[in-house]
Amino acid sequence: GGIVPLGATAVATTNNVNAAAAAGAVPRRRLEGKVAIVTGGARGIGEAIVRAFVRHGARVVVADIDDAAGEALAAALGLGGACCSYVHCDVSQEADVERAVGCCVARYGRLDVLCNNAGVLGRQDPPAANGTKSGGGGIASLDAAEFDRVLRVNTLGAALGMKHAARAMLQRRGGGGGSIVSVASVAGVLGGMGPHAYTASKHALVGLTKNAACELGEHGIRVNCVSPFGVATPMLVNAWRHRSHDDDEEADGVAPSPPSDEEVEKTEEMVRGLATLKGATLRAADIAEAALFLASDESRYISGHNLVVDGGVTTSRNVIGL
Ligand code: NAD
Repeated sequence: GGIVPLGATAVATTNNVNAAAAAGAVPRRRLEGKVAIVTGGARGIGEAIVRAFVRHGARVVVADIDDAAGEALAAALGLGGACCSYVHCDVSQEADVERAVGCCVARYGRLDVLCNNAGVLGRQDPPAANGTKSGGGGIASLDAAEFDRVLRVNTLGAALGMKHAARAMLQRRGGGGGSIVSVASVAGVLGGMGPHAYTASKHALVGLTKNAACELGEHGIRVNCVSPFGVATPMLVNAWRHRSHDDDEEADGVAPSPPSDEEVEKTEEMVRGLATLKGATLRAADIAEAALFLASDESRYISGHNLVVDGGVTTSRNVIGL
């Protein structure tokens, strides 16, 4: 019980390891000694977060449904599993989430950081009957099963992650503490930025983040989210590839083929066109940077916050729906 100094042990370790960093000899490692789970960590934004966490000294469990990509990433970063390993986990299945947290504690002895990054865009809504299109349109044709599927992954998946991470964080030796960082979206702040189910799921995730922060603060556990604008990951490239909802590979449960360099460039160009901030391109590494900050002790008094990484899009009235 009681309030435990946030990550006291980790801070001490970090200070030792970072003595050289202070002298400017090597880059400072901001997650030294910490153990993290990143859901949806096999590719895209999640992969960038995994890479940043490992680079900053964390031991990381990649939890995903794409076993081939997840295993390959863990093998590339893992030093034989010593600092990165993979576990199959469909976040919409509670038994999978519970097992992933259990594996993490069994392999690395604790859990300090959960990053709820797994998410699906879902099918684009059919065009609205009156021909208007504000980020998908078509509420009159809403597909209830698809709505359910998207909410199950994006919102329930994150809630289940919070549940089992909180249990592990509360049980660990030395008391509470920990950081939960979810990846929401600008579609969790504004309307007109994505399909209806996706927008509802991300607004719900921002609300869930605030509620969990209220409760878990008592135990020194911080809960925040990061909300990206468009990043040219397989999710976004696939959405642009298949504007017609009939052949959306992701929505059919098939992993989309990896984007070509040309598709990534075209997608980035489109995002730059929609962006408020000019002269820069949003990349997965920028989202990883924000997640790293919220995971680390540098954000030790920040909780219940939604850190938008959008170049000001959500503060502008001139937003064009994706
Ligand atoms: P992506 O489709 O490229 O990668 C998503 C990863 O999640 C994949 O590895 C996939 O296998 C995994 N995944 C999907 N369903 C899962 C499930 N049920 N259980 C476990 N893993 C699952 O997408 P991305 O663009 O990297 O998106 C990552 C997060 O960022 C998502 O939550 C997304 O909504 C959010 N986001 C993305 C953008 C963008 O423009 N790319 C913008 C805002 C928010």
